[in-house]
Amino acid sequence: MTDIKKNLEKVEARIAEAATKAGREPSEVKLIAVSKTKPASDINEAVKCGVTDIGENKVQEVMEKFDQTLPVNWHFIGHLQRNKVKYIIDKVTMIHSVDSLKLAREIDLRAAGAGLKMDILIQINAAEEENKYGTTFEKAPALIDEILKECSSVNIKGLMSVVPIAEDPEDVGIYFKKTKELFDRLSAEKSHERLRMEHLSMGMTHDFETAIREGSTMVRVGTAIFGERNIKK
Ligand SMILES: *Cc1c(COP(=O)(O)O)cnc(C)c1O
Repeated sequence: MTDIKKNLEKVEARIAEAATKAGREPSEVKLIAVSKTKPASDINEAVKCGVTDIGENKVQEVMEKFDQTLPVNWHFIGHLQRNKVKYIIDKVTMIHSVDSLKLAREIDLRAAGAGLKMDILIQINAAEEENKYGTTFEKAPALIDEILKECSSVNIKGLMSVVPIAEDPEDVGIYFKKTKELFDRLSAEKSHERLRMEHLSMGMTHDFETAIREGSTMVRVGTAIFGERNIKK
């Protein structure tokens, strides 16, 4: 058995256990296998083992690998510069990292031009860290209203949260909890045909079990599947 296959089995077992412990169905949590810095051959290996969703954080990497991979859903999870939206608009299933009206407008323009609707998540920088992108809990509701008003080729599907790297993943539980609270509040309070609060993208290799306990529906796992990255990102 290859390392990727073995690693995937372990990660899937851990997801299932964390979900069950939280009284949730394992099928409620989708695994996004984050393949940044890894070759297309690794993605194909993962797809052969049943992975349906891949995450990348650089436009360049999506472009390089896209034509070399088996059919799979691509998720864009990194900071997205407006001038690069056009390169990925017809390649990705979902953009997790929308944190400004300007970016949403560009996605809207390019989606309309390509004759498609793009699913997006609003990225929350939960601890307001200076070295991370994302909007705040306070600003997210108004940003969502503006996007719904202006961007008719964009569907808002939920939230993505980025949290500090903590030695003890329990220390970031509070940020996941706050993101889930906002998610539930938005679900209850906002009603719009282009808003469906379906996805809560939170949790990475070192903290996905905590995130699942707090309500994550999408975990973005790289290292635990593909191994350590060679290049520091
Ligand atoms: C790299 C990355 C991940 C995956 O990180 P791991 O710790 O390797 O699991 C998840 N989300 C984002 C936004 C990333 O850039």
